[in-house]
Amino acid sequence: MIKDNLAHVKERVKAACMRSGRNPDDVTILAVSKTKPAEDIMALYEAGQRDFGENYVQELREKHEKLPSDIRWHMIGHLQRNKVKYIADFIEMIHSVDSAALALTIEKEAAKHDRVIPVLIEVNVAGEESKYGVTPDEVPELARVIGDLPHVSLRGLMTSAPLVQNPEEDRAVFRKLAQLGVDMNLENDNNVKVDVLSMGMSNDFEVAVEEGSTCVRVGTVIFGARVYG
Ligand SMILES: *Cc1c(COP(=O)(O)O)cnc(C)c1O
Repeated sequence: MIKDNLAHVKERVKAACMRSGRNPDDVTILAVSKTKPAEDIMALYEAGQRDFGENYVQELREKHEKLPSDIRWHMIGHLQRNKVKYIADFIEMIHSVDSAALALTIEKEAAKHDRVIPVLIEVNVAGEESKYGVTPDEVPELARVIGDLPHVSLRGLMTSAPLVQNPEEDRAVFRKLAQLGVDMNLENDNNVKVDVLSMGMSNDFEVAVEEGSTCVRVGTVIFGARVYG
């Protein structure tokens, strides 16, 4: 079942790539497994899926410890500075960097493990009150800060678009994030070259792919609805 859902998402990503003249290999499907049990993750793992996204540090840590070591774990949820130390040794990418203070903490913890942690800047493109992320105007300054950190590698930008009835309504949000990425590469401060755009969720990933997403974060359409206890 879950495997079939993933296959279906792959087909839809592929079709969106065809419509927009893109190569499907340039889009990573991140299976967002928050609140979902290890068996569900293993069902996808056995089908070859390796990239998984989680929102909560403790859950991420526990799943990392108990599941195969070649899974690539992505932190996509809001991250508190005092929790960076619990994921710094293994995390594949942190998608949710939204302050210089958090970036500096990641630098410190990554240095302890003698590794470089890839990160994205989370941007609140639509300016929603309820969402984390910096404003588009704040991106260049935060990019400059991160660009100076030896153990943090800025790879791109992430956003969560507003929940809408028709995903077309979010096209402008995705386009804006893609444009911010282009602008960053033009400015090219600190030789930062961004190539990751993490955007698109269950309800809007096809539009996000058409607008240049390189990483869709899909939970519900793969694993089914989440039930919070
Ligand atoms: C939960 C979550 C997702 C996945 O959402 P779905 O609508 O279930 O696909 C993607 N990104 C972030 C940041 C999330 O918190």
